Amino acid sequence: MSVNILKMNLRIHFLKKEEVLMIKESYEEIIEMEKNRQKENVELIASENFPSERVLKAAGSILTNKYAEGYSGRRYYGGCKYIDMIETKAIEDVCKLFDCKYANVQPHSGSSANLAVYRALINPGDVVLGMSLDAGGHLTHGYKMSFSGQDYEAYSYGVDENGYLDNEEFKKLLYEHNPRLIIIGASSYSRTIDYKLYRDIIDEYAEKHGGEKPYYMVDMAHVAGLIAGGVHPSPIPYADVVTSTTHKTLRGPRGGIILTNSEDIIKKINKTVFPGIQGGPLEHIIAAKGICFEEDAKPEFKEYAKQIIKNAKAFSEEFIKNGWKVISGGTDNHMFVLDVYTSCGLSGKDVEVLLDDINITLNKNQIPNDTLPPLKSSGVRIGTPAMTTKGWKEDDFIKLAHVIMDYLKECQKEKTGDSIDTVKESTKEKYKKEVQIIVKK
Ligand code: PLP
Repeated sequence: MSVNILKMNLRIHFLKKEEVLMIKESYEEIIEMEKNRQKENVELIASENFPSERVLKAAGSILTNKYAEGYSGRRYYGGCKYIDMIETKAIEDVCKLFDCKYANVQPHSGSSANLAVYRALINPGDVVLGMSLDAGGHLTHGYKMSFSGQDYEAYSYGVDENGYLDNEEFKKLLYEHNPRLIIIGASSYSRTIDYKLYRDIIDEYAEKHGGEKPYYMVDMAHVAGLIAGGVHPSPIPYADVVTSTTHKTLRGPRGGIILTNSEDIIKKINKTVFPGIQGGPLEHIIAAKGICFEEDAKPEFKEYAKQIIKNAKAFSEEFIKNGWKVISGGTDNHMFVLDVYTSCGLSGKDVEVLLDDINITLNKNQIPNDTLPPLKSSGVRIGTPAMTTKGWKEDDFIKLAHVIMDYLKECQKEKTGDSIDTVKESTKEKYKKEVQIIVKK
């Protein structure tokens, strides 16, 4: 390799033109390198997955050549006969999968889907209420550096001292600030969300408050596959509008969707997605989304969804049994947050880097009321969807938990002060081999 990629990443913002030319490998070679990384590494990022060959083939297909601004039967370009068939079929399949009436499958990502909902239903300056980033919410749920916190007056609820959604705080903020849009859903929350409960709270508030009822949006991006697989409750009967990504537990291509049972809302959403915030839809991705919806309706996917949860429970329980701290004391879904700072004295960032060195990929994560800044963080987020796709069962995750705990304890002993540079290469090699044994079993 012509450059030390890790070092380069750290300096990426400061690269000079000559330095960029240092990457000698072709794009194809780099893709091959990434393919090998994905094959050899243990993938624990809770929002990643390995879609099927069918999905990948559609995503890389000639459909990328076609412009199709507009919607089926109402396009701004000719030659859309087959594109219309694809998009209509994908809409039908996603509506069947989630048992809802209307869908827009064009959002390029989860963030664009969320942007479309804000733009379609409320006005700039309106009040929104979402989960705070450090408690597990997403940037687009009102964070100050996102459009959602900049263009709207955003308030955030969090979790209680046990790590569960703080419904008292939610109600207090609801009554105090009278939001126009309420967002339920998270990027790192390991407990079941009771969507009906929020419908009831919002209805009761609306009755007492009078005036226009706030919109209730659920962002189910993380748990969509579990909902499709029937192992997590669905928000569809309760929320006014539901958004999701398609590339996490759903196991499809990178993209977003918006679902609703309201004809009025889907009309507003459709106008906002195109021409409001997007131009030509990515029809190759829409075909890949359709294939994923078809696959997710199969009995095998239900089994997969069940196994994701069994694996996450077994994995988190192994840490807990050995005295490590898991936020909220466990998990009901596909992920959990491990408080590594309390458990082994290393920051989330250090753990991310150290585990990367032995071919385990995960990401640092803030814990509720974190004492470390976001770029360090006290926790790491751990998810089981990707390795469950690769066929891992409870035993594999239990073995991995021990490799992680033993390795990090050794790293903690070998580090000097705040630096992890003194962790020995021989230690890394030893544990890398142990990881390889589990991967290759
Ligand atoms: N919503 C939630 C809950 C997420 O976790 C994420 C991404 O992680 C998104 C939305 C945004 O998705 P994307 O990265 O496709 O914009």
